[in-house]
Amino acid sequence: MTSTVITNIGNLVTNDPAQGEGKLGRIRDAAVVIDGETIAWVGASKDAPDADEAYDAKGRAGIPGFVDSHSHLVFAGDRTAEFNARMEGRSYKAGGIRTTVKATRAASDEELEANLVRYLAEARKQGTTTFETKSGYGLTTHDESRALRIASRHTDEVTYLGAHIVSPDHKDDPAAYVDLVTGEMLDACAPYARWIDVFCEKGAFDGDQARAILTAGQAKGLMARVHANQLTYGPGVQLAVELDAASADHCTHLTDEDVTALASGNTVATLLPGAEFSTRAQWPDARRLLDAGVTVALSTDCNPGSSFTSSMLFCIALAVRDMRMTPDEALWSATAGGAQALRRTDVGRLTPGARADLALLDAPSHVHLAYRPGVPLVSAVWQRGRRTP
Ligand SMILES: [Zn+2]
Repeated sequence: MTSTVITNIGNLVTNDPAQGEGKLGRIRDAAVVIDGETIAWVGASKDAPDADEAYDAKGRAGIPGFVDSHSHLVFAGDRTAEFNARMEGRSYKAGGIRTTVKATRAASDEELEANLVRYLAEARKQGTTTFETKSGYGLTTHDESRALRIASRHTDEVTYLGAHIVSPDHKDDPAAYVDLVTGEMLDACAPYARWIDVFCEKGAFDGDQARAILTAGQAKGLMARVHANQLTYGPGVQLAVELDAASADHCTHLTDEDVTALASGNTVATLLPGAEFSTRAQWPDARRLLDAGVTVALSTDCNPGSSFTSSMLFCIALAVRDMRMTPDEALWSATAGGAQALRRTDVGRLTPGARADLALLDAPSHVHLAYRPGVPLVSAVWQRGRRTP
């Protein structure tokens, strides 16, 4: 195993209060030692031990690699026309998710994998080192399980979302589709997945259906996460807390009871501002959640329909500008918050023993992520201790 010491990091965020200042555990003039795939040492640059290799950060800021805990990257096709019509204020008779389902079913394994790899590489270049991704554009036993099989070759954080929408093949009999999702399809998908998810929303799955789907998954050893309260108020958030889901994702329309439930449980509220941006919808109120003591994560929701961005940098800028998060809170949510939304303690922080996932920014501090929106500030990325191109 090779060790590397990265010296002269102007401003390092560790997300470990024991390592430095404040909740972000900031260290000025810092160094990090990587040993193999893990962080071996963090501290002041002047105290850094020797290593096999040295890298001079030349005063750049360092942050933990982003943990993107919500994306939909196993898909084919494109929905440019739908987006364009929405931005032009025209109604558009498209199939929405069904358009992507059709294209995904028609694609070969190789096409789906090449598409996934392309977006993972795109995200990595922008500092994302942990990715969750979902099925949900197959909606048959064959197509859902192949999506998860492909995803599982590229990330450990794989989510079975057979319950994205009721399959068009079952549109007249949603109960039969729920039976499929909780039966044969679950059996075929569970070996490739760590998580089960459901789109609990009017027009998708109601509270009872969502409960049946999540508990069936839990009985097969999958852990729960929920698409909840995105478009309207609904039972998703409280169901997520009740079933100890790791995360309730979206959380745009919340009652006071929903906020109280999130504050009292172990469920992270994952906010996905790319979706509100791309659909010109109301922003989730991060400030309200944070002030109530809720743990908040930020994620891209990268998907071809409602949020076609792989950029955590962009999501941080939106969260600070439009969701009333501070730059410190937004960075924490995009790193440690995402890790908590995936129930991980080895990523999202730079502390000895954690995975050596970090990024250097062409900036004096992480505040520039929001201060300089749209600028590609990530200049070097290490994932599992390896510097990625
Ligand atoms: Zn989603």
